[in-house]
Amino acid sequence: MFCRNLMDVDVGEIADELRSQDVVEVKRIMKTQNGMEESTPSLILTFNLPVSPENIKIGYLSIRVRPFIPNPRRCFNCQGYGHTTTSCSKIEVCGRCAKEGHRDANCQEHEKCANCSGSHTARSRDCPVFKKAKAILRISTEQKLFFPATRREYKKKTINSRNLVKPDVSFATATSKQVTTNLNNQPSGSYNELKNLFRCYLIKLHPIS
Ligand SMILES: [Zn+2]
Ligand SMILES: [Zn+2]
Ligand SMILES: [Zn+2]
Repeated sequence: MFCRNLMDVDVGEIADELRSQDVVEVKRIMKTQNGMEESTPSLILTFNLPVSPENIKIGYLSIRVRPFIPNPRRCFNCQGYGHTTTSCSKIEVCGRCAKEGHRDANCQEHEKCANCSGSHTARSRDCPVFKKAKAILRISTEQKLFFPATRREYKKKTINSRNLVKPDVSFATATSKQVTTNLNNQPSGSYNELKNLFRCYLIKLHPIS
């Protein structure tokens, strides 16, 4: 949620105030400006509820709550999305010019994105590959929020069409299989990475027990 009136209020105090509305954790989003960490008016609330409410009340204020969409993780080795440096087996490339053999810290080359070859650095928020990865996180976050309804809907469909999914397959696996099939029809190579990212997030959000 976003609230300038709470800029100077300690997150612990806000958390105490919101406990009765099933809020279990409050974090403030920080930004770095000129090497200094600064507070922003945005707060991340974690609810002990299957679906988060549309508003919360704090003092005399009623504040709108929106789902928090995290930024996709980028690998600092190959610059790709959906995995981290520790699990990367690809060749290291520069985050500024996409060439091998050096890091971006002292790079003066022309900007070229390692993910889309566009004229921006790999960390650019304007990169179409970043935007796709973010869109996928949005879908998976929303699925988490509406999970009970989605699961009922999915079960209905499965029964109606008597399709390929075995009855003992969990929702997360079943859904990622469906998505895999859909994405495989797409021509672009970067879809493979996104597909893995999506599967990885689905499993994270709905662990298979
Ligand atoms: Zn990598
Ligand atoms: Zn470079
Ligand atoms: Zn790009």
